[in-house]
Amino acid sequence: MSASSRYDVLFAPVRIGPKTAANRFYGLPYALGPGMDQDVERAAAHYAVRAEGGWAVVTCGECTFTEDTRWLGLSLASDEEAAAMARLPEAIHEHGALASLELSHPGAIGNGLDLRVPVLAPSQLQFDAAFFGRTIPKAMELAEIRQVQDAYVAAAIRARDIGFDMVNVYGGHSNLFMQFLSPFYNQRTDAYGGTFANRARMWLETIERVREAIGDDCAVVARIAVDALGPAGVDLDEALGFIRAADHLVDLWDLVVGALDNSRVDLTPSRAYPEGYALEWTGKVKAHTAKPVAANGRLTSADLMADLVRNGVVDMVAGARPGIAEPFLPEKIRSGRFLDIAECIGCNQCAQRGFVGSIGCVQNPTAGEERRRGWHPERFDEVDADELAVLVVGGGPAGLECATVLGRRGFGIVHLVDARPALGGHLEWFSRLPGFRPWARAIELRTQRIERLPNVSIELGRRLGAATVLGYEASVVVVATGAAWAPDGLLWATHAPIAGADPALPHVLSAEALMVEGKPIPGRRVVVVDGEGELVGAALAQHLVAEGHDVAVVTPWPVLAIHAEHGGEAPILRRELLEAGAVIHAGLVPVAVDRDGVTCLDEIGREVRNPLRRRGARDAARLAG
Ligand code: SF4
Repeated sequence: MSASSRYDVLFAPVRIGPKTAANRFYGLPYALGPGMDQDVERAAAHYAVRAEGGWAVVTCGECTFTEDTRWLGLSLASDEEAAAMARLPEAIHEHGALASLELSHPGAIGNGLDLRVPVLAPSQLQFDAAFFGRTIPKAMELAEIRQVQDAYVAAAIRARDIGFDMVNVYGGHSNLFMQFLSPFYNQRTDAYGGTFANRARMWLETIERVREAIGDDCAVVARIAVDALGPAGVDLDEALGFIRAADHLVDLWDLVVGALDNSRVDLTPSRAYPEGYALEWTGKVKAHTAKPVAANGRLTSADLMADLVRNGVVDMVAGARPGIAEPFLPEKIRSGRFLDIAECIGCNQCAQRGFVGSIGCVQNPTAGEERRRGWHPERFDEVDADELAVLVVGGGPAGLECATVLGRRGFGIVHLVDARPALGGHLEWFSRLPGFRPWARAIELRTQRIERLPNVSIELGRRLGAATVLGYEASVVVVATGAAWAPDGLLWATHAPIAGADPALPHVLSAEALMVEGKPIPGRRVVVVDGEGELVGAALAQHLVAEGHDVAVVTPWPVLAIHAEHGGEAPILRRELLEAGAVIHAGLVPVAVDRDGVTCLDEIGREVRNPLRRRGARDAARLAG
């Protein structure tokens, strides 16, 4: 049991069909990124650390299972792929956890650009999320429905045969089963469309057949979005109706909310969604099922988790991000190591990276590097020469993490020095922008850890040069000073500075001049340039709106904060800016600035002067993309 009886309820076993989970921590699947999907040993090492940290269930996926849907994530379309994937349950079992696999058919979300075959969906309707939905799908014929169901069962059998304990018949996030259930995506007039019973048929039949095939050996889980919170999905009433209809076939319900067209509701970035946001919907399910339920919501508070289980709101606390940030969350709660918990800050950098590279985490730099670099969140190679001194220059997140790890490794003395009077680097001021306060936890966590390390010393307000660096007589010097925004406006779009952008002038300010040096803005009207496409430009604009300025944001990218799209922050920031009266100009390249304003070029090189004109709401919304 746990160090405090208050949390014992989280460590009671729970029966899930033919399996028993050792405690109430249910690890959800998430995108590991193409880099790890193609390297099963890397993925296995990542999942193994989560199992080692005490999660009773570790879910892998998503995993497609037909040749024509193999496009993102794992694939179990052949015996060869199954043989390779066997390493995943094996690695999870080594630490005593149950291994679950989320089997997925993307339906209209898929693309046929690799195999050049039609994408299959209930009806011939393009998907509604811009970053998917590229292909017009083919409405499935009855034979194709049978083929997909047959393939699903074959994949479930493969999953069982390679050692998975649980198979998740996935119907969340707008995939094929939710498309069948959706009154919008399903326009069929046969036995699989029209009434609720008909729309539910595809998923029900599949769960039934999976249960028949593997139900004696494996737990059958269904993941359902209990409210898509959008016009094209399934609402709470119909989702509860489905849960009642399928309850006899399912061993556990895995509950989420949202759909891909509004994925921010599922991703719940912390500046817009509090911990447990989804419970407003998922908390209503228990009254409609006799089976255990697992529900998520970036749950990081042990007290809240214990209350949810104790009060019968959920049976298992589900988590993706909380376990990425802190794989040892269950073990640290059990043993009372609360101060050392790396709490997920809801920044969604993991989601951003899971689409394009491989997973990473602001709070847990070891995530994704468990095998390639041999990193572990709790184990550190002890240094042989423990008398060595190390100097870390720069107290931003990277310098703080570096000093923490070197301190834990046992170096004689680790000097962490920063020129500014506060730790945190850019993140210190960024977390003071509207809504980003939770991000400061990344600084606080490391600072608290360093405070417990007697061999790490911190010096603030000291700018080092070559001579002063030598004065530390350090054997190793780590430069963690990061980068600064170009004060002259150097842009990728022109490969040149913005003419007239002299930072010495009163009307030209960099991000640091504004937020660190406190340089005043000599007027009411401001143009913010979002050159990099991350969050900083949009967040600064929001700060300036809150300070009472008339703000226009100009970005050469086709949409403001384009690289923050997958984390769910960007659409929220754009909406908030527009609602606050700011103007967003996407696809404009700023080329010159003077005392009277800014000159930009549009896509075909026409000059646009001073794009700070308040527009009607419709124009503004159009420009925001
Ligand atoms: Fe949480 Fe951010 Fe880490 Fe993702 S990257 S798990 S949101 S702290």
